[in-house]
Amino acid sequence: MKKIAILGSTGSIGTQTLEVVEQNRDLQVTALAAGSNVRLMEQQIRRFSPALACMGDEEKARELRTLTKDLNVRITSGMEGLLEVAAEPQSEILVTAIVGMIGIRPTIAAIEAGKDIALANKETLVTAGHLIMPLAKEKNVKILPVDSEHSAIFQCMNGEDKRAVHKILLTASGGPFRGWSKEQLSNVQPEDALKHPNWSMGKKITIDSSTMVNKGLEVMEAKWLFGVDLDQIQVVVQPQSVIHSMVEFEDGAVMAQLGTPDMKLPIQYALYYPERRFLPGERLDFAKLGKISFEEPDLLVFRGLSLAYQAGREGGSIPTVYNAANEYAVAKFLGRKISYPAIIEMIESAMESHHRIMQPKVEEILAAEQETYEFLESRW
Ligand code: NDP
Repeated sequence: MKKIAILGSTGSIGTQTLEVVEQNRDLQVTALAAGSNVRLMEQQIRRFSPALACMGDEEKARELRTLTKDLNVRITSGMEGLLEVAAEPQSEILVTAIVGMIGIRPTIAAIEAGKDIALANKETLVTAGHLIMPLAKEKNVKILPVDSEHSAIFQCMNGEDKRAVHKILLTASGGPFRGWSKEQLSNVQPEDALKHPNWSMGKKITIDSSTMVNKGLEVMEAKWLFGVDLDQIQVVVQPQSVIHSMVEFEDGAVMAQLGTPDMKLPIQYALYYPERRFLPGERLDFAKLGKISFEEPDLLVFRGLSLAYQAGREGGSIPTVYNAANEYAVAKFLGRKISYPAIIEMIESAMESHHRIMQPKVEEILAAEQETYEFLESRW
């Protein structure tokens, strides 16, 4: 039995992780954490019998205790609860499927406790990669990517000498507004941006895919995961989302990982690495597919991507500001408080106003996040 804990079990990645657990008899859930969806958490506890569960706040935890009083499960809340779930003594691997920088402390706690990490929560690496990666090395813990692109790169590099990697070709679908002009983008509404052509995901990441900020975050995530320079990461638009990413080696060979868009593949691969298991579902049919096409991203229209390269190059606390400003702006856009182009304008103005701290500690990262929110609150 492989024992797993999940942060963000009620979300898109969390529920798909539990589908993978259902399809495999040798995975056992030891602990779950979610924010506010008490009803779904109750169902998950009844179905998977974890010993520990955590809700975002104490009020939700109380509701959950009432609903599960016939069951043998301990229910906690808040950051303390997340830390407990992360370091739950029985578990071997933690799936970090929570959204945002709230994932940093639990991820560190899990690594300190010697748990492998199946990492979906990219914000943790983007903002604290300089702390996470050396700590994982020191504790001999594996950081296994769940993001489909990073899983693809990881699969392409399997068994290869990392020093022979020439560049990473990070693929992007281009989102629902591929080929649009700046003028067309100025009138985009939340319902338009929430329609992703190929993937079904949580709301925040779907908006991020439409602005290509998600790709920008992925560029920074890849830099930490694979120890490459930003100049070695090239974004390639591949609208069919069939090639999940590629790696070019020094001899010119290019390895790619292909498949139908299904997050259960990278999730399952991370849970069983290095073993491959049967996964039911649609297979690629190349005759039906006909063609796979490629384009360069339009960096003038999708400035969120060029700002990400800038943030990654400047380093220190700047990626935190990029990420925090985007989180703030996306929430405002979803609440119809700001226009679509204002998302990128907010990121840019927050990056410009911030005084960079190099090698920030966790407290400094969280302070930079807070400072960014306050700056945007006062300006917009
Ligand atoms: P969702 O919004 O679907 O899910 C987020 C999860 O986090 C929910 O379970 C939510 O609980 C939980 N959560 C939110 N706040 C708290 C809190 N304070 N305490 C505990 N739990 C909390 O997000 P996704 O699954 O789409 O994304 C998760 C992460 O994975 C993100 O970092 C994203 O970038 C990354 N990712 C996602 C992919 C996808 O296909 N969806 C692909 C690759 C990466 P509740 O709903 O109960 O409030």
